[in-house]
Order: sequence, then structure tokens, then C-alpha cells
Amino acid sequence: MFGEIYDVIVVGGGHAGAEATAAAANMGSKTLIVTMNLQTIGQMSCNPAMGGIAKGQIVREIDALGGYSGIITDKSAIQFKMLNKSKGSAMWSPRAQSDRMRFAEEWRLALERTPNVDFYQEMVTGLLIEKNKVVGVKTSLGIEIKSKSVVLTNGTFLNGLIHIGEKQFGGGRAGEKAATGITEQLVDLGFDSGRMKTGTPPRVDGRSLDYSKMIPQPGDDKPEKFSYLNTPILQKQRDCHMTHTSKMVHDLLREGFDRSPMFNGRIKSIGPRYCPSIEDKINRFSDKDSHQMFIEPEGWDTVEVYVNGFSTSLPEDVQFKALRSVKGFEKVKFFRPGYAIEYDYFPPTQLKHTLETKLIDNLYFAGQINGTTGYEEAASQGLMAGINAHLKINESEAFTLQRDEAYIGVLIDDLITKGTEEPYRMFTSRAEYRTLLRQDNADLRLTPKGYEIGLAKEDRLRRMKDKQTKSQALVAFFKDTSVLPRTNESHFARNRLVANITI
Ligand SMILES: Cc1cc2nc3c(=O)[nH]c(=O)nc-3n(C[C@H](O)[C@H](O)[C@H](O)COP(=O)(O)OP(=O)(O)OC[C@H]3O[C@@H](n4cnc5c(N)ncnc54)[C@H](O)[C@@H]3O)c2cc1C
Repeated sequence: MFGEIYDVIVVGGGHAGAEATAAAANMGSKTLIVTMNLQTIGQMSCNPAMGGIAKGQIVREIDALGGYSGIITDKSAIQFKMLNKSKGSAMWSPRAQSDRMRFAEEWRLALERTPNVDFYQEMVTGLLIEKNKVVGVKTSLGIEIKSKSVVLTNGTFLNGLIHIGEKQFGGGRAGEKAATGITEQLVDLGFDSGRMKTGTPPRVDGRSLDYSKMIPQPGDDKPEKFSYLNTPILQKQRDCHMTHTSKMVHDLLREGFDRSPMFNGRIKSIGPRYCPSIEDKINRFSDKDSHQMFIEPEGWDTVEVYVNGFSTSLPEDVQFKALRSVKGFEKVKFFRPGYAIEYDYFPPTQLKHTLETKLIDNLYFAGQINGTTGYEEAASQGLMAGINAHLKINESEAFTLQRDEAYIGVLIDDLITKGTEEPYRMFTSRAEYRTLLRQDNADLRLTPKGYEIGLAKEDRLRRMKDKQTKSQALVAFFKDTSVLPRTNESHFARNRLVANITI
């Protein structure tokens, strides 16, 4: 089945895997993406949204370098907001709600349209190693596929264990199998591994909600977009809504605490501090009688709704009873309960700046496997791993970004020099050059670099140069033009008006 030797094999079709595949293939590498389910390429495991504070900057940086995440987001967005508008424009951050199904479909189609990409659906259970160098992968059917390099992007799937109340079962995501074999082999090869956890809220039927009791959260009046290319701007948008928990909801949730895997010691690993579960919030902030909940549609047409702010691994009956006490949720019907998941990760201090492992040549790790959380963090690592896998096998100079050049540079530098004890999420506060690393100048910062390594195309560079020329002309105009007050008609008019009023 696989007679040829691939340049790059990417294991996994999440955000990291999809970007790694696109980058390596667009640069000219014959690339195979092997993933457990080809239907779930680009799947958003948790909230249907891209961007946000610091994360929006990362999506723009991926786009500026020639990655796909910004384009896919623009094509599948249902609402756009520029966050942080109350602060100076250097802090503005784009965020879009996405149509979850369309997002995944657009990713799949984008990869199908990319030359040099082959697809194969199966679980990779091991790596082929020769003299400390990876030379391919082995699948659960025992098939060996040869390659010059391998990028592992296994996400939350490595020995994934799902928790709902007292029930626990193996899985990489609800309804999907856990991946086995890889952790065990890597540990045998001398890698350190650890366990982390994350969680997700229930999804519900939007037809069972009473939106008249909630506060609408519309998108921006003048929506923008992520990609610097010619992608569409939203002509219409879908509203999100806001509601709140109450003391009664908290009391109902507390009734299930003795069956909570978070509190009875069954979940031992550390979760993302800034995406706490509702039980965690009630426990840690016991003086608060109410927490915000954002009700986010999962797409243009679907009735499924994401209940942001209500992530939980409490028993499903407790989740359901408590949710029915939330304003607007009195008749709620569940699509699926919330759950928590524990999974293996590899402390990222075992990587070089290129995301190649220090122990095994030509083996790269990207995404949640490195202890990060979030689609944007994963996608940017995938992009960098795909680029470097291609460059290394072509004996070209490695491509890295410095902390003053990109949030992506900050992310990778933090990971490989400091490691992380808890799921790593990007914040503006992590970047000491944050006022320079703006969402609106990612193209000026990075497109020439993306072009130089052969990833960003001619059209992208031309658009960036055009923008640069226009903004330089504007700056020059202001530098060269001075207006004397007495030659200014409106100044005189205003003075006459003031004089008249005074008289
Ligand atoms: C329940 C849950 C809740 C989450 N909550 C949040 C949150 O609140 N905030 C946040 O920012 N992020 C959250 N995330 C994390 C977010 O989904 C990830 O950060 C992001 O998807 C990671 O991207 P990735 O590409 O690294 O991995 P994933 O998106 O997990 O993709 C992994 C891919 O690899 C494939 N795969 C795995 N092992 C193998 C194998 N051996 N062989 C073949 N294919 C394989 C899978 O099929 C999948 O396609 C959550 C994830 C889950 C599952």
C-alpha cells in the first residue's frame, strides 16, 4: 500500500496536524497525514471559536506566514468581535465564533486541494526508529509506512481517559477512541511523559432554550476578519447570549460534589487554570452567588448550542438538574453531557526551538502533546513543526521566531526553555514585546519571512508590500505637511463662531 518513502508523515488531524500537513506540503514535501478519523480533521474539540486575547494575534501570525487557520476561520465564521477595544489599539484582539461543522469541512477541503498531500485513516501505534532517527510509523493494522521525518500531533488522545461523575472510560474525545502504544514506546526510548486534564461543558438543543430571558451578545457592527488574503467579510452574523448561574444552581451542583472525579481524587492531573470547571469556580470562589454563562450557537443552521462557562465532569443527572435551574434553561434538552479528560503529554523541554525532539532526529512534536491548550497554540506549533520538518530534510537552515518577532516565538521559547506544569495558554502578559506584536502588523512582521522560506505565496507578499507602501506614504505625508493656523479656513471659522458666541 505504501511503497514510497514520504518526506513527512503527520500523525493526527487536529489543529496542529492540519497546519503541519499544509505547511510541509506547500513547501514541497510529499506529505502523508495519518489520522484516526478523516471525518474529524480540524475538529474543534471544545468551544466553536477561534482567536481571543493573544490567541487572535497568533491566528493572524499563522496567516501572515502562509498557514490556513485564518482563512478557514473567515470561511466558517458566524460572528466576529474585536476584543479589548477599550484599550489602546496595540491590545486589540480578533475573535470569531465558527460554524463547527463548516470549520472542519473547510479544513478537509483545503488539505484535499493542497498538492503533495496523501491521506490515510488509521491509528498510529508506534514509530520506526533506526540509529536514533525516525524513519516512519507503524499502524494498528501492522502496516509500516516509511518517511524521512514524522510530526506527532496526538492532542488529548494519548491514553485519554474520560470522566463523567463516577464513570470513566478510555477515549481521546467524546465518541472517539484513545490512542495507545506511542507513549509507551517513547518512554522506553527515554522520554519523560506526564498527565494533564481538560474539560468541556454540555451541548444542548437551542430549541429548548428561552432566549427572551437572556441578554443578546451581538457581533461587531463592522466585522473584520482574520486573513490578510481576500477572504469574505461577514455580511450577517448570529447572536450569542448571556445568562448567569444562581445560588440555587450552585446548591444543586454541590449536591453532586461527593461523586465528582475532581473532588474525590479520581482526577489527579492538572487542568487549565483559566478555563476552570463550574464546580471548580463554585469551590474556589465560594463567596460568589453567580457566574456568567455565554450561550454560543454551534453554526449557521444547527440547533446545537455550546454552553460556555459551564464546563463540568459532575454526574450527568447533576449537570442536567442544575442547568434546568439556569434562567432560560428551564426546559433544556441535552445533546451531550459535559466531561473531563486526562491524557499524556511530553514536557516540552525535551524539544529544540524547531520542535524537533532532542532524543530522536527528525521527530517533531506539536500541539497539546507539548502540554499546551487551545486551537491557536496547537495550530501555530503545527505550522512551525511542518516548516522545520521540510527544511531539515532539505538540509536548509532551521526557521525559528524570536520573542520580539511573534507571539509564536514567545510560545515556543517559553515551552522549550521553561516547560510547563499546567496546560499552557498564551496571554499578552507572557510577551514582553506585546505592544509591538500587534494583530494588525503580523503581515509586516512575518510575511517576508514566510515568503523567504517558500511558504507564503507571491500574492500574499504583494498585498503586504502594497499596505506597507500606503502606510509609509501616509506617515511621510504627516511628517512633511505642516498647517499654519492662520491659513486654516476652518480655524478662522471656528474663531469667528467663538467670537460671536462671546459677544
Ligand atoms: C474535552 C476537551 C476540552 C477542551 N477544553 C479546552 C478549553 O477549554 N480551552 C482550550 O483552549 N482548549 C480546550 N481543549 C483543547 C483543544 O481542543 C486542543 O488544545 C486542541 O484541539 C489541540 O489541538 P491538537 O491538534 O494538538 O490536538 P487535537 O485537536 O486533540 O487533535 C488530535 C488529532 O490526532 C489524532 N490522533 C491522535 N492520536 C493518534 C494516533 N495514534 N494515530 C492517528 N491519529 C491520532 C486524533 O484523531 C485527532 O485528529 C479541550 C479539548 C478537549 C478534548
